[in-house]
Amino acid sequence: MKKTLTSLAMALTLLSPTALFAKNNVVVVATGGTIAGAGASSTNSATYTAAKVPVNVLLDAVPQVQQLANVSGVQALQIASESITDKELIQLARQINELVKKPDVNGIVVTHGTDTMEETAFFLNLVVHTDKPIVLVGSMRPGTALSADGPLNLYNAVALASSDSAKGKGTLVMMNDDIFAARDVTKTINIHTNAFSSPWGALGSVVEGKAYWFRDVSKLHNNSSEFNIENIKGDALPLVQIVYGSDNMLAQSYLALQQAGVKAIIHAGTGNGSVANYLVPTLTKIQQDGIQIVRSSRVPQGFVLRNAEQPDDKYGWVVAHDLNPQKARLLTALALTKTKDAKELQRMFYEY
Ligand code: GLU
Repeated sequence: MKKTLTSLAMALTLLSPTALFAKNNVVVVATGGTIAGAGASSTNSATYTAAKVPVNVLLDAVPQVQQLANVSGVQALQIASESITDKELIQLARQINELVKKPDVNGIVVTHGTDTMEETAFFLNLVVHTDKPIVLVGSMRPGTALSADGPLNLYNAVALASSDSAKGKGTLVMMNDDIFAARDVTKTINIHTNAFSSPWGALGSVVEGKAYWFRDVSKLHNNSSEFNIENIKGDALPLVQIVYGSDNMLAQSYLALQQAGVKAIIHAGTGNGSVANYLVPTLTKIQQDGIQIVRSSRVPQGFVLRNAEQPDDKYGWVVAHDLNPQKARLLTALALTKTKDAKELQRMFYEY
């Protein structure tokens, strides 16, 4: 009898609401940006100072997140994201890498300025090995503004980071109810709350704290990535810079970067990553000097086709596939920590 009662008590414990609905643990890693911004008055939606409000105040402003998960905060940076360099990126990735290794951490939210959120998201997508959700979130209006978008964005981000359905989907960006993949999300509007989009569409949406999914990413990320923050030494990446394409360009832009010691140049070309005829001799010479030339495009949609606008095989150039110039910069820098072979670089551009 005693044995039956003990088994019954054990079964009831297993079925208790706490056991059935134990909340996941989410860490909010704050880095600054508008989501931590403050303006002089509630009508200041565009004039304000970014990166002012500390993480505990951000979390206290949205107590509803504690219903979704056990949420704690750490202040990694307090910065406007245009000022992030490779040094901060590496530090942040190391910090997040340590957090995701903890068995009692189920998901990460990174609050971030929207300017370079896509870069940080893509970097984490490439170098942090985990299947736990890592979700970047920002806002377009400071918390002091009328209809501030930060609180709901943060609530949605915690919902996503604590959701089992987000596991293994790659690093995500949560903005304006939309869930985006780090590799293809980009900031396309610099003044409205629907600031982010992807040429291939959102992965899904969060509505009332629940994630709804509509597509998956077919490229390598996180656990399947060959890059790993644990193998990156020091606090700098190989130097890679971007030259923006237009009509009437100067060869000196590329030569100045060569002089500055770049290891690769991302040519953000017109159209299909086109290179003006009068620039081709400079770029082929630079490539022969050992600098990788990666043809990306200033056009926000589509992808650069190898050997179409230019004979890439003949010149030893690389095409960025559908990665925009800023993401091509990061993938190239990481690739150069492993190889100097343009063919290997090209493989990586197709795989990530
Ligand atoms: N430029 C600032 C940043 O990226 C504020 C912009 C924003 O967060 O929306 O951090």
